[in-house]
Amino acid sequence: MEEPAPALVELKGVNKHFGDLHVLRDIDLTVHKGEVLVVIGPSGSGKSTLCRAINRLETIDTGTITIDGSPLPAEGRSLARLRADVGMVFQSFNLFAHKTVLDNVTLGPRKARGTPKKDAEEAALTLLRRVGVENQARKMPAQLSGGQQQRVAIARALAMQPKVMLFDEPTSALDPEMVQEVLDVMVALAKEGMTMIVVTHEMGFARKAADRVVFMADGQIVEEADPDTFFTAPTSSRAKDFLSKIL
Ligand code: ADP
Ligand code: MG
Repeated sequence: MEEPAPALVELKGVNKHFGDLHVLRDIDLTVHKGEVLVVIGPSGSGKSTLCRAINRLETIDTGTITIDGSPLPAEGRSLARLRADVGMVFQSFNLFAHKTVLDNVTLGPRKARGTPKKDAEEAALTLLRRVGVENQARKMPAQLSGGQQQRVAIARALAMQPKVMLFDEPTSALDPEMVQEVLDVMVALAKEGMTMIVVTHEMGFARKAADRVVFMADGQIVEEADPDTFFTAPTSSRAKDFLSKIL
């Protein structure tokens, strides 16, 4: 029998409050190596907080989060190392506005990993080619379209050679005609075996690339299923109600 893929991201009993607001409630979630998990749910349900907690941009109150077997430490060098294992792509592309596309992609490896400039640039150009923007390398972010900028943001995250990639609504700030070019890059990445956690309402992406869909509401995981089952036969009333609004 085939060995099950090891757990790459594991959350156990995770709780998080913002003041009186209980934003993550007893979250148990395991993402295996090579798995693509889509997280879906209404605005305010805690999806971004979940991503930020996994990248330790946000602390948690109780519970544990482990990345590839190592518990997320509070701070220090070991945190920086674990954080480098988790690539993150946000809704707003968050590129450094005053640096070229190439510098945006090489900066992380040069600063955090000490990669020599020449090697970092070679690797960056390969990544930029992979996301289809290699001829934009010398430009500034503002000279690129939103879709191109988001693809650069993906290349920048990949440059750190992360073990898992988190995407928090990566296409929701894009003009509609640019959504597909970003989703195509993400689908390709999924096919190459990247472990991914993707917050998105793009059903086409979920059906094409997701192994599993998690539906969140009010800080809880309400439902978990394969994409076909989730989109065609959701079981909870919260999920049914949500899907009736977005589909
Ligand atoms: P989602 O990404 O699903 O829309 P979020 O994780 O962004 O949800 O937010 C969950 C809840 O936590 C929301 O009610 C939001 O207003 C609140 N929240 C998020 N970040 C903060 C913060 N830094 N301080 C206080 N409340 C926050
Ligand atoms: Mg969000």
